[in-house]
Amino acid sequence: MISRSSLSISSSATGCHKAALVLFSGGQDSTTCLAQALARHERVETLGFDYGQRHGVEMQVRLRARQALADAFPEWRGRLGEDHVLSLDVLSQIGGSSLTDDVAFEMQADGLPNTFVPGRNLLFLTLAGALAYRRGLSVIVTGVCETDFSGYPDCRDDTMKAMQLALNLGLERRLLIETPLMWLDKAQTWQLAQELGGDRLVELIRKETHTCYLGVREQLHDWGYGCGECPACRLRAQGWERWERQQKG
Ligand code: ZN
Repeated sequence: MISRSSLSISSSATGCHKAALVLFSGGQDSTTCLAQALARHERVETLGFDYGQRHGVEMQVRLRARQALADAFPEWRGRLGEDHVLSLDVLSQIGGSSLTDDVAFEMQADGLPNTFVPGRNLLFLTLAGALAYRRGLSVIVTGVCETDFSGYPDCRDDTMKAMQLALNLGLERRLLIETPLMWLDKAQTWQLAQELGGDRLVELIRKETHTCYLGVREQLHDWGYGCGECPACRLRAQGWERWERQQKG
């Protein structure tokens, strides 16, 4: 009888990844990542984190976006496995970020926006690694990006490579961290969605995902729902407008 561990070694040796865990917040980026993972991997599970975000929209939207993907893409439905949510209250206990505390968005003295939650992605990936270990998943997918980012040091390619090494050593398991958006700007992320699932996927991402830091979902803009003013909305709107111009040009 072949043991479970020898199976996982043989599948990674052939370069054929069977099962992935997608860090999934229900935003534009992680939904695009989830779509790409469903197109590439045979089994895909999702992971969200509840860390005392100022609004509860993210936790609702991510479930609806997952369901919308399964409904709109029958070819992906059978690959979409369990959803997991882990509680990370400890991040709001540390405090000091406008994502978790009721303070206005502003730049910090170190040049980073105060939306930065120190250590957030490091914790996310550590827990994702632990869950992947338990679930027998060999790939972790995250939508971090170095191109259009806000300067967050825990989104950098070097940070991801270091985390992959730390997880491989600390868990004694061959885990791959995939970052499909690392070198894309927001316009290219819309383009990737178009290539993966055509207008159907672009419309789904426009209407079913959520990016706004303030949790506003009253008004549907060309680029989706949001306040239109916060840094996340502005980035998303600028990316959409650039992508539309590129398509017309
Ligand atoms: Zn907003």
